[in-house]
Amino acid sequence: MPVYKCRVCGTYTLEPVHCGKPCIYLMSDEQREALSHLMSALLRHIPHEAGLRLDEEGFVNIDELVKGIRERWRNRHLYQWVTRDHVIAVAMLDPRGRFEIRDNKIRATYGHSIPVKIRYEEDRTVKVLYHGTVRRNLQSIMEKGLVPGRRLFVHLTTRPDIAKEIGARHGADVVVLKIDADCVRKRGYKIYRASPVIYLAKYVPPECIEIES
Ligand SMILES: [Zn+2]
Repeated sequence: MPVYKCRVCGTYTLEPVHCGKPCIYLMSDEQREALSHLMSALLRHIPHEAGLRLDEEGFVNIDELVKGIRERWRNRHLYQWVTRDHVIAVAMLDPRGRFEIRDNKIRATYGHSIPVKIRYEEDRTVKVLYHGTVRRNLQSIMEKGLVPGRRLFVHLTTRPDIAKEIGARHGADVVVLKIDADCVRKRGYKIYRASPVIYLAKYVPPECIEIES
């Protein structure tokens, strides 16, 4: 769905009309997807490739991010349309809460491979979490448990549909795993909340994992 900005209240929205008036058109669905993907890559893995330096909590100034995308990124010719509004709209409308805006700065909330100090809130209430993977990883997961790989944490979600989407990035034979969160906690591994739907753990022992579908 295309993204709009309300002329009256300034809200970023997927609705073409807001506050009773036609909105300003910001970008297409394809543009939103491409920018979201690029923002994730730069804020989680490769800020230096757009000349950016994140602070120790993973934040970068929004205007610097826009400048990096338009002037330094190798595919900058594809992103000359990007402004502050586009970056903020992508962040605010993200269905998984991938980004956080604070003051004039933005960061990825999870998924980093570069070291950042983000203080996540420990979660003690969620009971069931899901993790998406592909069949070829199953044997190793059921023997050794879930380990972060090149990222800092294992990614878990409260939503089986999101787990499926995440798994589908690695191949067609997606497997959704169901995680018993209390089992993880009882074995001494904390569960953290990164966004309303994404949770993180340093490790998930195999005995806490079941194959969902
Ligand atoms: Zn409005």
